[in-house]
Amino acid sequence: MGVVETLASRNADFVKTQFTDGLRMMPKLKTIVIGCVDPRVDPASVLGAEQGEIAAIRNVGGRITPRTLEELVMLRKVTQAAGADLGPGWELIVLQHTQCGITLLKDQPELLTPYFETDEAGLEAQAVADPRAAIAHDVAALRAESRLEGVRVSGLLYDVATGEIETVVAP
Ligand SMILES: [Zn+2]
Repeated sequence: MGVVETLASRNADFVKTQFTDGLRMMPKLKTIVIGCVDPRVDPASVLGAEQGEIAAIRNVGGRITPRTLEELVMLRKVTQAAGADLGPGWELIVLQHTQCGITLLKDQPELLTPYFETDEAGLEAQAVADPRAAIAHDVAALRAESRLEGVRVSGLLYDVATGEIETVVAP
C-alpha cells in the first residue's frame, strides 16, 4: 500500500475514534501558533491541543515574514467576517525549535533575502542561526504590527531533543 492509501485508511479510524462533530471555525482557545513545517514540531501535538482548540500557520522556520504578517491580517478579516475579532483576548504564539533546518541555509542569502523580503544587510537582524534571537525578533515584529493591535504575543522554543518548551518571550 502506498503512503496515500495508508493515510486514507488511517482517516477511517480517525472518523470512528477521534473526529469531533460541531467544531467551529474559530479556535476554541482564541490562539494562533506560527510554527515550523518540521514534522517533529506539530503545534497541536507538542502543546497538547485538542482538535479545534488552536489554529496554526506553518512555514520554514516558523518565521514572521512579511507574508506571514499578511496572512495574519487576512485571518483577522476572516474572524471579523465570522462575527469575532482576532484582537484583544487572542494569543499569537511564535513556536520555533532547536536543530531547525532553516539554520542550514544561513549562508545562502539568495534563498533567505526573498523569503524575508530584505537585503543581505537586513538578514543579520533575522538571526537565522540563533533560535532565541529569532524568536525575540519575530515577537517584536508581531507586537509592532498596528493591524494586530491588542493581541497578546509570546515566543516559545521547543527542544527537539527533550520535547520541552522554553518560554523565550513571555506574553
Ligand atoms: Zn524548523
